[in-house]
Amino acid sequence: MTVLVFVDPAHPGGRVADPDAPQLSVLDAGVTRGDGIFESALYTGGRVRKLEMHLSRMAVSAQVTDLIIPSAGAWRAAIATAVSQYDAAASPGAGPSESVVKLIATRGAESADGVHDYGSAWVTVSPAPELGLRQRETGVDVLLLDRGYDSTVAERAPWLLMGAKTLSYAVNMAAIRHAKRNGADDVIFTSSDGRVLEGPTSTVLLATRETDADGHEVKRLVTPTLETGILPGTTQGAIFAAAKSAGWELGYGPVEPRHLREAAGVWLVSSVRLLAPVNSLDGEAISTDAELTADLSAMVDSIN
Ligand code: PLP
Repeated sequence: MTVLVFVDPAHPGGRVADPDAPQLSVLDAGVTRGDGIFESALYTGGRVRKLEMHLSRMAVSAQVTDLIIPSAGAWRAAIATAVSQYDAAASPGAGPSESVVKLIATRGAESADGVHDYGSAWVTVSPAPELGLRQRETGVDVLLLDRGYDSTVAERAPWLLMGAKTLSYAVNMAAIRHAKRNGADDVIFTSSDGRVLEGPTSTVLLATRETDADGHEVKRLVTPTLETGILPGTTQGAIFAAAKSAGWELGYGPVEPRHLREAAGVWLVSSVRLLAPVNSLDGEAISTDAELTADLSAMVDSIN
């Protein structure tokens, strides 16, 4: 079941619409060119997790892509309407569930003189994909795939919109299909100069455990640096904040594939799947650490 609510100035709480009926212009550049932006957030226990982080990143994506999108207040109102409709439609007595709240904004149709009208902005709420929920338990086998850019491209080529969450995910989805055709579940992109970047829909984390001179264990959590042009992950940000409070050391790349192979554990993290341990890279098993996974899962569960 999906609930759809358009952000519409004529409807302050959002305009509820039928998700199974046609709603968009076939001329909208969001459809014809993948020209738009989005966010995916987890809705569970009556709350949209990290909503403010998602709204902030949506605002950054809008700025980077020169898109005019509704205010944070208008998004919040439409989301509130969408989740209350969703809850009302849920069967009574249904157990705890996990759902995805998507925010989408498109550029709109292009007129003959090249000017775009206003695009559309909408919110959907749907059940979270089963596969992602399962992968929290099973972990994932990952292929390292070349993204074809070097790790300095974001600064040199801002028109590539690195770091914005645009609707142009065809390449990301193709990478996952390539992995599946080759017996794996997911992908970690690398840069042409050999740096670890991110997954097609996730941020990469690795952890190491060492013993310091006083015999204390030091847990260190590392993620690739944002300068490589990856998306700033809201889940990574929240986990890092929790790990810091728990006394872990934090590090921001550069990360190379060998660091993944040498780590105590590697995880893919994202808002809806949350935390999936990586079991193998390019067909070779890597270290997994159930205790660290449990620590990180507890941190993920504490995110609000
Ligand atoms: N990187 C990419 C390319 C993504 O698409 C996503 C999420 O879909 C992430 C990282 C993780 O971001 P977040 O934790 O905010 O969901």
